[in-house]
Amino acid sequence: MKSACLGLALGLLSFSSALCAAPPTNVVIIFADDLGYGDLSCYGSPTIHTPNLDRMASEGLRFTDFYVAAEVCTPSRAALLTGRYPIRSGMCGTRRVLFPNSEGGLPSEEVTIADALKDKGYATAQIGKWHLGIHEGSRPLDQGFEHQFGLPYSNDMDGRPGLPKGSSGSPTPPEDGWNVALSRDGKIIEQPAVQTTLTKRYTEEAVKFITEKKDKPFFLYFAHTFPHVPLFASPDFKGKSRGGIFGDAVEELDWSVGQIMATLRATGLAENTLVFFTSDNGPWLIMGNQGGSAGLLKDGKGSTWEGGMRVPGIAWQPGRIKPGVTHELANSMDLFTTALTLAGAKKPDVPVDGVDLSPLLYEAKALPQRPFFYYRGDKLFACRIGEWKAHFSTQIGYGQPKADAHVPPLLFNLGLDPSEKRNVAKDHPEVIAQIEEAVKAHQANLVPGKPQLQ
Ligand code: MG
Repeated sequence: MKSACLGLALGLLSFSSALCAAPPTNVVIIFADDLGYGDLSCYGSPTIHTPNLDRMASEGLRFTDFYVAAEVCTPSRAALLTGRYPIRSGMCGTRRVLFPNSEGGLPSEEVTIADALKDKGYATAQIGKWHLGIHEGSRPLDQGFEHQFGLPYSNDMDGRPGLPKGSSGSPTPPEDGWNVALSRDGKIIEQPAVQTTLTKRYTEEAVKFITEKKDKPFFLYFAHTFPHVPLFASPDFKGKSRGGIFGDAVEELDWSVGQIMATLRATGLAENTLVFFTSDNGPWLIMGNQGGSAGLLKDGKGSTWEGGMRVPGIAWQPGRIKPGVTHELANSMDLFTTALTLAGAKKPDVPVDGVDLSPLLYEAKALPQRPFFYYRGDKLFACRIGEWKAHFSTQIGYGQPKADAHVPPLLFNLGLDPSEKRNVAKDHPEVIAQIEEAVKAHQANLVPGKPQLQ
């Protein structure tokens, strides 16, 4: 009788502790398009007002040295969702992104964050721009997402016949200039997509998803269309910022981030949801006033200079992540490994380049030192270890037909010289030797995937 009582008590105890066990952490990744390192107030923009992202940064962890794994859109997105340098999945090449007539896409055998988290019982949604393929096997619903709402690729693709050249970079682009379609769960619901209200409608969809799924773990990949050109903003934001239509679009995006944070607070989910905000690549500088800013960093989108790949990175989970600023070197592929770790999901049996950021986020522990490789297309152009960055080749993002090769490589100390102005290769041959060694080791084990962008 005694042991039966004890058994019952123990049974009740484990039952109640199972009820009290913390639910798995939700993951929300908010991905801006072509937003530069210098385009948010909390990263020094004097003209764009981003109170919600500034609040996210002051309540969370703001990264000064956060990178994406590619200098343009498609490969950057592939790396984020797979945790792998795009060369491994074949999602990079001389044709730099997928176009509407491309035959390839993210191979179905690649494991995305959505695949892995769905297997662990997470609800999964992709809202916004996809740009990882429009054919069977590559589409959001084929890549682990149960729900989709957004555009298949960039908003400047699929220009309508007769569209004047330069329309996409105009401060007043024609609203009916592009035939890109808006779809829900893989079915077209509007074509051309009405772009002025896209940010607003994406946000409503994201709020609805979070509210509906609040009782189960979820993964939301929210990839905004803006501030990629052509730029549009809804009437509430148009003409309101100091930064022209680019500033208007960013300020609307900031409003959207505020709505997500408010929804997480209102549903009581904020403490159990990791929100990470970043951008797919640097600013598209050739678009002039419509192109954004990399702040003090050199060049922008399309290049392996810092401005092309170092982007804002903010992690937020109030009560769990201690507010602060970190100089740790981290990158978008780490979000894959971090999400899988938080969900208790098994890493796929392929080389993964991301590391788990949880020790840094939750215990303020330093990350292991590792090299970061800068690719332009499928060519390795540069490598960073610690404060040191060596460029083997350089080429500005747009308008320089051929790369300049550097033997010995150019060498910059990014701590002392974040703008990459003073080449100190001559003084530090031992640093160059160390970086060359790391590149050799990386390339020795690299198996490039079948090219997808041709
Ligand atoms: Mg982009």
